[in-house]
Amino acid sequence: MSSEHWSGIDFFILMLTRCRVSTRSIIKLTVIGLSILSGLSACQTGSFSSSANPLSKAAEPLQQEDSDPVAASETPPPTPTPQEMSESTPQPTEGKVEMITITIVFDNYPYKEGMQTAWGFSAFVTYKDQNVLFDTGGSGLMLLENMSEMNINPAEVQNVVLSHEHNDHTAGLQALLSAGADPKIYLPPSFSSSFKNKFSQQAEVIEVVPGLLIAERISTLGEIQGSPPEQALVIDTPRGLVVITGCAHPGVEKMVLAAKRQFKEEIYLVMGGFHLGSSSSYQVKNIIKEFQRIGVVHVAPCHCTGDRAINQFREAFGENFISVGAGAVIEIES
Ligand SMILES: [Zn+2]
Ligand SMILES: [Zn+2]
Repeated sequence: MSSEHWSGIDFFILMLTRCRVSTRSIIKLTVIGLSILSGLSACQTGSFSSSANPLSKAAEPLQQEDSDPVAASETPPPTPTPQEMSESTPQPTEGKVEMITITIVFDNYPYKEGMQTAWGFSAFVTYKDQNVLFDTGGSGLMLLENMSEMNINPAEVQNVVLSHEHNDHTAGLQALLSAGADPKIYLPPSFSSSFKNKFSQQAEVIEVVPGLLIAERISTLGEIQGSPPEQALVIDTPRGLVVITGCAHPGVEKMVLAAKRQFKEEIYLVMGGFHLGSSSSYQVKNIIKEFQRIGVVHVAPCHCTGDRAINQFREAFGENFISVGAGAVIEIES
C-alpha cells in the first residue's frame, strides 16, 4: 500500500486473527502508527494483503453458521480482513494514540485458530491501564484457556460486568476468581440474592445504576427491564458509542435506543448477542430498520443472534458488518 493512502488516517478497526501477537503487542504496534499493518501482515500468512485497499473489502462471512455452534471450533476460522472505517475527514494523528481494545474471549462462533468455542459470551475490554471483562462465558475452564490463548492474565482482570443471570454468561466467574482475580463485580440489581451472597464473600459486588462509570470511557447502560433484566456495556469513543450486549433479552433495539438516549451520543458499533435466533426474518428486518433509524453505523453480531439474523445484518450493513467470534479483536482509536 502507498504511504499516501494511509497518511492522516486517524481511525480504524482491525480484525486480528491467526496472529500470535499479544493484546499488548497489538496496542504497541498500533501506537507506532503505520507500521501496524506491516507488523500484522507478517503473521497473517499472506492473507492480509498490504496492497489491498481495506475500504473496498467487505467483512469475510462466517463459515460456520449452518453448523452446530458448539461443535463449530473444528472448522478453520475465516480469512482475516482489515477494516478501515474512516468515514469522515481524516485528521493527522500526533503523539501517542490510546486504543480501546475489545477481545472476544468466549463465543459459540469461532474466529481465531486455537480458540475454543461453546455456548456463551465474554469480551475483554481494555483502555489505557484499565480493563473490564464483560460476561464470563459458559465454562470457566474454557474461559481461562481462551484468555491464555489471547495472552490475557486472568489475575489482572480489574472489573467484571455481568449482563444477566444466565449460566452462559456467568459460569466462568468462579474460575476467574479462583485463578487469582480480585475484580469488582458489577451486577444488575435483579440478580438473585443467592448469587450476590455467594460472590460478595469473595469479591466486591456492586449493583449498578444507569450510566455508572466502570473504567475510563467504559460505563454500564444500567438494568433494562426484560426477561430476564439485563445490562449492556457502553464504551464512549470519539466516533460514537460502542454497545456490547450479552443476550439482549430486553430487545437489542430497545437497549441500543436506551444507550443513545442516556448517553446522548450516536451509536457507532453494536456487538454481542442480539437474541434473534427464534425471530422471523420479518421481525429481524424490522429490527434492522430500527437500527438504521437510530443511526447504528457498524454491527458485529454473534452468540445468540442466530444464523439467519446474522446473514440479514450482513446483507443490510454490507461493509459495515463485522464478522466476529472467539478470538476476534476490535481496536478503536480514542
Ligand atoms: Zn440469556
Ligand atoms: Zn446467552
